[in-house]
Amino acid sequence: MPAFTLEDLKNYTGCEIMKQNQTTFGDVSTDTRSIRPGMIFLAIKGENFDGHNFLDKAVANGAAGVILADKSKVTKIQNENITILYVKDTLKAYLDIAGGWRSRFSLPVLAITGSNGKTTTKDLTAAILAERYKVLKTQKNFNSEIGMALTLLSLRPEHEVAVIEMGMRGLGQIKTLAGIAKPDIGIVLNVGNTHIELLGSQENIAKAKGELVEAIKADGLVILNADNKYTAAMAVKTKARIVTFGIDNKADITAENIRMLDSNKTVFTCKEAGQSVELTIPLMGKHNVYDALAAVAAGRAMHIDWSMIKHGLANFTSSGMRFEILRLKDYTIINDAYNASPLSTKAAIENLTILPAKRRIFVFGDMKELGAIAQQAHEEVGRFCAAHKIDILITFGALADCAAIAAKCSGIRFVQSCKSHEEIAMLLKTILKKGDAVLFKGSHSMQMEKIIELLEK
Ligand code: ATP
Ligand code: MG
Repeated sequence: MPAFTLEDLKNYTGCEIMKQNQTTFGDVSTDTRSIRPGMIFLAIKGENFDGHNFLDKAVANGAAGVILADKSKVTKIQNENITILYVKDTLKAYLDIAGGWRSRFSLPVLAITGSNGKTTTKDLTAAILAERYKVLKTQKNFNSEIGMALTLLSLRPEHEVAVIEMGMRGLGQIKTLAGIAKPDIGIVLNVGNTHIELLGSQENIAKAKGELVEAIKADGLVILNADNKYTAAMAVKTKARIVTFGIDNKADITAENIRMLDSNKTVFTCKEAGQSVELTIPLMGKHNVYDALAAVAAGRAMHIDWSMIKHGLANFTSSGMRFEILRLKDYTIINDAYNASPLSTKAAIENLTILPAKRRIFVFGDMKELGAIAQQAHEEVGRFCAAHKIDILITFGALADCAAIAAKCSGIRFVQSCKSHEEIAMLLKTILKKGDAVLFKGSHSMQMEKIIELLEK
């Protein structure tokens, strides 16, 4: 378990000591429920909760110290034996402490960013590296500042490599995360439209993702997607060695002869420096091959041999709701409801067309955070459905309704806009026929998976 002295905390965060009692502490936590005797409670103000309102709970659970950013709340701490530290920004302090802890280890750290596929690539990379090393990886989708601090504070002496997912919600964020994690290897998967509302343009998104490339030192490694013009252009941002992966363009690591098997598997021939290896991933579609190629590039850089790569990829288990194929009665249900962006929605539609099915039905919920391009992006999805011969389009949400109109104008005969999960479930129950395949996709907040639950009842 991490252990910090008062001196460490002062050095890492520059905190002001408001009250000094205990001078040695265990781990740091932002959640009073995980506070154990001797730990430090760090009060973070989030969207829904303010940690400063739980100081008494932290103390009751045995916290030896608290770090806070609101001096007025000190009176809430009744226990005389607590060390109280003040910082201006507790989130920054959390990252600084995590960075301090990370600096005590000399293992290689891999960081992964991109608009789509970060979690999948993180898990694929960890699966490959676990064939040879003891791996620490970001749990679930914990890719924010808090998530990364949590991950780094989980570093233990037995770990031999760390795989970190880095999310991005604005310029400067990846720079901050990378400044703390100090990655040796940086992977940028792609630059799409996700978060365009926050960043204004795709160029700005590329700039923000490019911060990871800029953070890799000259003796490190940068892994870039050669098929995405924005990531390909990032090569100039670093002095580090660059390895590229791609399918359509020339790259160091490529995939050919990509075949989808209906049992939710994709097989491809992976080529690197004259070597050719047949690889299988338990995932559907070309977009996941990109994620696998990035993971292979990381594996090769970490000296994993091909037989281990093959084994690691084959045994990878995906996090749920990412093109998860389920059989329900006589129908194929595809749960891709984890999230949706224009890039990942088109990838999912392409995959749907490959699946063997009598009719292909797409149940589409709004794609959020697209700002000014929202309407146009949804209309494009509608036309994309028509061009890919989707038989039935059912939409949910005001934006997805724009896709419905565009799909109708482009020739899809059966298009229906619905107002609730229940209405969609009812509609599906009346129209579904043996052999149909139904894809569910929309932004996280649209909770498209709820419709599947209703169907299962
Ligand atoms: P988040 O930003 O929510 O953390 P993420 O970048 O971690 O997302 P995943 O969770 O791996 O991405 O996948 C999210 C969605 O993107 C899934 O629907 C998946 O099918 C799709 N996807 C995965 N990889 C790619 C890719 N390389 N290109 C386009 N879409 C992809
Ligand atoms: Mg993720």
